[in-house]
Amino acid sequence: MSRVYNFSPGPAALPLPVLEQARAELLNWQGRGLSVMECSHRGRPFAELAEQSERDLRALLSIPDDYAVLFMQGGATLQFAAIPMTLARPGQSVDYLITEHWGKKAASEAARLRPLRVVADGAALGYRSVPAPQEWDAGADAAYLHYTANETLHGLEIDPPPDADYAPLVCDMSSTLLSRPVPVERFGLIYACAQKNIGPAGVTVVIISPDLLRRVPEDTPLALNYRKIAVAGSMLNTPATFPWYVASLVFRWVAAQGGVQALAERNRRKAQLLYDYIDGSDFYANRVDCRWRSWMNVPFTLADPALEARFLEMSERQGLHGLKGHRAVGGMRASIYNAMPEAGVRALVSFMKEFERAA
Ligand code: PMP
Repeated sequence: MSRVYNFSPGPAALPLPVLEQARAELLNWQGRGLSVMECSHRGRPFAELAEQSERDLRALLSIPDDYAVLFMQGGATLQFAAIPMTLARPGQSVDYLITEHWGKKAASEAARLRPLRVVADGAALGYRSVPAPQEWDAGADAAYLHYTANETLHGLEIDPPPDADYAPLVCDMSSTLLSRPVPVERFGLIYACAQKNIGPAGVTVVIISPDLLRRVPEDTPLALNYRKIAVAGSMLNTPATFPWYVASLVFRWVAAQGGVQALAERNRRKAQLLYDYIDGSDFYANRVDCRWRSWMNVPFTLADPALEARFLEMSERQGLHGLKGHRAVGGMRASIYNAMPEAGVRALVSFMKEFERAA
């Protein structure tokens, strides 16, 4: 069976060589006569995989030595709660920049735990762009400032990080981590669920500065206790061993592509190809201001929404999978993470041209 071009927002496409290696090793990992899924996380072989994967991720993102790198569970959603619970004292306010869906989700979870200050909300700009830091209602007393690097549903991306250093920056990079270089030293904490650019769902990467690590209260529940998880090498309890293993293969694949710098160049070209075509057509539209357009998720609408069902049916038939926009947004969305080759984006553009011509 031939494989489709998978434009799903996540769980998303994985690099083919990674899947092939996982398949080849599935029954007999490293000649041990068992699968990596059947290996104890306490044994030396898995510990070596874990240590190597951390070294690889540190090298890919130039993570400062004194930052901790954690492989947690619970997805980005657990981080929405763990962050306010452990990095802000009871009663201490936390600052959130709202850029749409995921920013709102993170903020609403924080609001249940700590006094929330929304420093700015892009609603007034129709979420087409991001309010400038000079216009923010920032609190000097805030425990941290949280923002969402890439709004996966709406295709709005913030890069470079905002020019605001009054509080440690905390960032949800679920749909951008590994897609381009990141100045990690500017952040207090970065988190990302795996199922876009890192690996299968089930493992969540957290990168945390020593300053923030020191804030974690001693009595924090174990599964949220960044400091204890760091000391235990992310083995405080049984980690998601198989997703972690696949992530370790993805890290090596990223390195083999030339690292995040090379992938950023490729990702910029892929996004440009699609946006250029959309902007040049009266039939398709993307509403995000050019300055803030995402390299990873490209939402677009058709001039006539009544054609959407046919667009999806025909694209699927041509091996272009997962183009339906999120139910909260409607329209279409092409997620073009690291594993989407340029040929996939070209195939999508050809299909869109043909569909427009025939419509
Ligand atoms: N943040 C962003 C930016 C996301 O795209 C997602 C998932 N699509 C989440 C958070 C939630 O992640 P999870 O389902 O792993 O909790």
